[in-house]
Amino acid sequence: MDGIVFDIQRFSIHDGPGIRTTVFFKGCSLRCFWCHNPESIRFKPEMQFFPDLCIGCGACLAACPNGARTLRDGVGGYDRTRCRACGACAEVCFSGATVRIGREMAADQVVAEVLADRAFYQTSGGGVTLSGGEPVLQRDFAYAILARCKAEDIHTAIETAGNYPWDDLAALLPVTDMVMMDIKHLDPDRHRAATGVSNERILENARRLARTGKPVHFRVPVVPTVNDDPEAIGAIAAFVRALADLRAVNGAREVPLSLELLAFHRLAADKYRSLALDYRAGRLEPPSKAQMAALAGVARSYGVVLQGNY
Ligand code: SF4
Ligand code: SF4
Repeated sequence: MDGIVFDIQRFSIHDGPGIRTTVFFKGCSLRCFWCHNPESIRFKPEMQFFPDLCIGCGACLAACPNGARTLRDGVGGYDRTRCRACGACAEVCFSGATVRIGREMAADQVVAEVLADRAFYQTSGGGVTLSGGEPVLQRDFAYAILARCKAEDIHTAIETAGNYPWDDLAALLPVTDMVMMDIKHLDPDRHRAATGVSNERILENARRLARTGKPVHFRVPVVPTVNDDPEAIGAIAAFVRALADLRAVNGAREVPLSLELLAFHRLAADKYRSLALDYRAGRLEPPSKAQMAALAGVARSYGVVLQGNY
């Protein structure tokens, strides 16, 4: 089974328990205007160009079959309307100024990379995490990787935004040990304004996921102008608390169901420039430590299990 990924990150410690290998799937159905991984949004391969790294060697001009590359005053340029993302220019660009994002891979190739670090998973309680983008939107590819990893006795996790028919996530659960799901806002209109889609299907999937008794970790990106206020965070914490109560009624009280607040940052600015994308969040100030601590206090007051340091 083949799919498209944009990165495989080894030794990750932020994508689930222990030391993990995180496989980043390419393609997402949301359009969060602050997205920290803009290279994950489109389903197709695409080109990044970092002018600051260009040494003006001209190798890309000779390599491009479509005349999409230029060289002026010793600095390479790029006409995206002519580019077909074939990657020929990236192969000859040794400075790293031109990079092709998006690798078509077979599930077996991905699993081979994951298995290389098996010893670290065993000693740390780690494993593999499928992230993105949205891994569930490449369901069969995701299933093939997760099933192979489970057969090798490796802990498996998914990071998801939750926006798809329930059956797509349900199909992956038998080979998934843990799910990390984003929640951005409980108000459908505010959610649509910030992400391009309503939250109704996401919240319904969160409810159904909680009822499965699978370990679930909800994550909230705290973004100025979107949800960095006590009302928005309180509403999300109340929602998560209700899911935990529902789970207790269903006899799965001991299975972890937690919440974490993640502060918006602007580290993605260079990536937006390299993809010629408009970075609408570029002027936002990241929340301060004090603000995050205050919002964490709000979440805690609802009796949720809160993870993270604030
Ligand atoms: S090959 Fe790379 S370094 Fe050379 S001109 Fe093209 S973009 Fe610049
Ligand atoms: S990716 Fe291919 S088409 Fe696009 S600029 Fe490079 S060589 Fe030309």
